[in-house]
Amino acid sequence: MIIDVVLAAGARLAEGPVWDRKNNCLRWVDIPAGLVHRFDPATGADSSFDVGEPVGTVAVRASGGLVLATKTGIYTCADDGSDRVLLHEVDTDPPGGRFNDGKADPWGRFWAGTMLDDPHEAAGFYRLDADGSLHQVLTGVSCSNGLGWSPDGATMYYVDTQLGGVDAFDHDPETGAITGRRRLLDIERGWPDGLTVDAAGCLWVALWDGWGLRRYTQEGRLLETVELPAQRVTSCAFGGPELSTLYVTTARAGLKEEVLAFQPEAGSLFAFEPEVGGLPAGEWAG
Ligand code: CA
Repeated sequence: MIIDVVLAAGARLAEGPVWDRKNNCLRWVDIPAGLVHRFDPATGADSSFDVGEPVGTVAVRASGGLVLATKTGIYTCADDGSDRVLLHEVDTDPPGGRFNDGKADPWGRFWAGTMLDDPHEAAGFYRLDADGSLHQVLTGVSCSNGLGWSPDGATMYYVDTQLGGVDAFDHDPETGAITGRRRLLDIERGWPDGLTVDAAGCLWVALWDGWGLRRYTQEGRLLETVELPAQRVTSCAFGGPELSTLYVTTARAGLKEEVLAFQPEAGSLFAFEPEVGGLPAGEWAG
């Protein structure tokens, strides 16, 4: 497997990769820098706009433009970050709180969770429906992270990083209701961060402090470990015209210079071509 650095971004905390099929580009964020990026694989060019506050995730809006989950709430904006409109202010105090990972699902809803530096277990997980209504669907969260859905929509996967694994819920695509939470798999190499589901229904889980990614069956059986030359692997998403490329984000955040000296590619955007491709990213239908 050849893992390429496709963008030597030097990001502090690259996260939230999502393929924008309307614009044939990969959107991603650098959370503490407050930057929403647009990477064009055809040219290798990357550009960004500054949100002016930490931005946890970006999703594509079906009617055009983007959805952002930031330190203060959930916003819509144009592709270039202009025309920003607050949809919902969300209380992410005390200091350090902010939205973290999030994603639009294939049925037009947008989901995102928060994290707090302290206290733990005081963050939440939210669902933004197509009618614009916001629903807090989980309380007692520590660090809301990766999420994804089985191809049939019957299962939602969810990571609260501090719990050290991936949980599964029964998911109703008609209503977005989630029930029956259970542990799907434990991560014993670093911490689970972002994830994506491939066209075969298997999960790719990014390993924070785990130097790579792991692929699991939907029953939670480990299939494969992909090694990366960066210890803080944050998230992954399929992209490219055929959804055949797996893009992987990494971080430099929290690592001392002497540690980073041994992983100069940390903070880069990596990519490789797995045997199986991905599924189209969801877009918020509101
Ligand atoms: Ca994350």
